[in-house]
Amino acid sequence: MNAPVPKQWIMDIAPYIPGRSTTDSGAKAVKLSSNENPLGTPPAAREAFLSAARDLERYPDASGSIVRDALAARHGLDPARIIYGNGSDEVLHLAAGAFSGPGDEVIFVHYGFAVYEIAARRTGATPVIAPDKDYATDVDAILACVTERTRIIFVANPNNPTGTFAPREEIARLHANLPAHVLLVLDHAYAEYIDGADDDGGMELARTAPNVLVTRTFSKMYGLAAERIGWGYAAEPIIQAMHRIRLPFSMTIAGQRAAVAALADEEWVTRCRADNARLRRWFTQEIAAMGNAGLRPIPSQANFVLVVFEGPLTAEAAYKGLMDEGYIVRWLPGQGLPQGLRITIGTEEETRGVAAALRRLVERAAPTR
Ligand SMILES: *Cc1c(COP(=O)(O)O)cnc(C)c1O
Repeated sequence: MNAPVPKQWIMDIAPYIPGRSTTDSGAKAVKLSSNENPLGTPPAAREAFLSAARDLERYPDASGSIVRDALAARHGLDPARIIYGNGSDEVLHLAAGAFSGPGDEVIFVHYGFAVYEIAARRTGATPVIAPDKDYATDVDAILACVTERTRIIFVANPNNPTGTFAPREEIARLHANLPAHVLLVLDHAYAEYIDGADDDGGMELARTAPNVLVTRTFSKMYGLAAERIGWGYAAEPIIQAMHRIRLPFSMTIAGQRAAVAALADEEWVTRCRADNARLRRWFTQEIAAMGNAGLRPIPSQANFVLVVFEGPLTAEAAYKGLMDEGYIVRWLPGQGLPQGLRITIGTEEETRGVAAALRRLVERAAPTR
């Protein structure tokens, strides 16, 4: 050995690929690849962010108390049981870091969020992939993967990249059938976008069960992806274990203040949810209308739609074609989805524009009759 050797389990990690923001030619484009809020950031959050410019020489509050207190008040939670981090990505890593290691198994679904695999492998644990049922989370398939070695199950609900939603009875059934030693992590990054509710029952489980962690984020609905504020709720022993490995200052002062201000703007959530639901419904119908060309929208409860390509126009060709038209969407061959494109619901103009561009591509690809 003549150089430092990284751990084999680290070298087994396929690096995370973020959504692109420029086209191949470098031209300015509409970015529909990272599920960001097309309406931006609540104005009060922007003001609160700017106020932090006066305090740059100070370390942020490592206990995140203004964020925890605001979350506790808003959601009726115990502030002592709130964990937080540099985006919910960090919270997911904390869960894996505290509860899994070499020889352990971590379960997630086939078409799942890429961070789960990275977080699991980073600890030396073995990822176990549960098959989906037509792109939706299959509780029975997950339960069939559970062994004595299972330490964590990650479930995003709504799921990314599929947008599918497992109803509360299914989540309750999953939890009820788990051995007590398994930590169930319910990733609610898109909770605010669910029609008519903002919960799958997971938060109630996190309040009462000793083995459920719910994670949430300010990155999507609250338009604060740049500031990296995420959080989680679980029984106190779970939270205390995670605190031991948390980076002390992972939430910035600007981020903490912006998050508190965003949380106070309830009208923002109501308005963005309604707007997203309306455009998601319209976009889904547009794609369904291209069904004879083999396009199929997967029913979504999030702020994006997975479109599956089963006809002459392939997802790869559509991805490139949309890029040429100035729309960047997400093609995920690295996640076992070479047949799909995940398209974020943008503004009305962007959403109508990407649908029209797809229709042109479909017509061009159709065999002449
Ligand atoms: C976007 C997203 C997150 C949130 O990431 P942050 O680190 O909070 O920005 C978490 N889980 C899923 C499934 C996501 O899509």
